[in-house]
Amino acid sequence: MAKDWGRRTKLVHQGARRSQYGEVAEAIYLTQGFVYPDASTAEARFLEAGPDEFIYARYGNPTVAAFEERIAAIEGTEDAFATASGMAAVSGALMAMLRAGDHVVSSRALFGSCLYVLEEVLTRYGVEVSFVDGTDGDAWQAALRPDTKAVFLETVSNPTLDVIDLADVARRAHAVGATVVVDNVFATPAFSRAVELGADVVIYSATKHIDGQGRALGGVICGSREFIRRTVEPYMKHTGGALSPFNAWIMLNGLTTLDLRVRAQAASAQAIAEALEGHPKLARVLYPGLKSHPQHAIAAAQMDGFGTVLSLDLKGGKEAAFRCLDALEIAVISNNLGDARSIATHPATTTHQRLPDELKAALGITPGLIRLSVGLEDTDDLIADLRRGLDRV
Ligand SMILES: *Cc1c(COP(=O)(O)O)cnc(C)c1O
Repeated sequence: MAKDWGRRTKLVHQGARRSQYGEVAEAIYLTQGFVYPDASTAEARFLEAGPDEFIYARYGNPTVAAFEERIAAIEGTEDAFATASGMAAVSGALMAMLRAGDHVVSSRALFGSCLYVLEEVLTRYGVEVSFVDGTDGDAWQAALRPDTKAVFLETVSNPTLDVIDLADVARRAHAVGATVVVDNVFATPAFSRAVELGADVVIYSATKHIDGQGRALGGVICGSREFIRRTVEPYMKHTGGALSPFNAWIMLNGLTTLDLRVRAQAASAQAIAEALEGHPKLARVLYPGLKSHPQHAIAAAQMDGFGTVLSLDLKGGKEAAFRCLDALEIAVISNNLGDARSIATHPATTTHQRLPDELKAALGITPGLIRLSVGLEDTDDLIADLRRGLDRV
């Protein structure tokens, strides 16, 4: 499918489909269904749809197919299936591949909704799930069993930015025949080397860096053609989590500029982390690009960049964090990430509010922690904004 192009060329051109009008920009095929030239064509297509033959938008659509082809090409998987949101991708991939009696091992530091799917939903249907500290290779080894069907992990983790050694986990998981499923939002498709390191299935919330401007929800499951078309597609097309053609068009255009945006945001995140490390009001600056980060070497080996998110742990706890947040003039207080606008979040009282205090403590989600998704503003302005915030503490 993918031509012998570099990542940036694929991000601009891969998957584009031109109609008979020869439009330059990708067309939005905003249609729920497709017309067949005659009854026997309809019969044949229902039996087995060929490439670029569509039946119903819940099954597939030309604009959605262009997005799937583009993301699969840069991720390095044979195929991809686009979904209505990142969570439709996570829940869809897991529900499609698992059945009662299966065992799953997952890292514990997960996005809240992922934790809900693994802990509350899968277990309701008889799937057994073991949670481990994802940074502890021995813990993965101890939890894996001959009947382990899948491992699930997020690396880099949210909001403490732990980096899991993906190649090590994949080696251990493959030894028992388990499928390695990675929620790869924080690595972003621009920096991902997940497939090369052994991931079988790579999932993105396209809502984050792929859109990159905070407009639309979307998600995607990347994997082998066999897995996407024989396992994921039947489940997704009958349960209804399809990506709308309009949102696919937004994501397709987001991919065009993804590499430039993410690299600029990561360079800015690195500069901010370095500028603020050692600040008297801060107990810790967490960013995988800092030499002080406990998994800096793993991050350097497994990603082409260190990501666009950093966390600041204020010594003064919740009150200090709130004062700092309220004083920011550029970064907005919200909970998305990967946006062109810098976004600051207080995880303990928002995204991770519902976690019991012991679990928050175990995950390092302290009362003083602020997560910052670095946008495309001038780096110097962002550093000045954060210094102003810290001065108010
Ligand atoms: C945002 C996010 C999701 C969920 O994505 P939605 O598009 O909001 O459904 C899943 N995993 C991670 C790591 C995320 O950051």
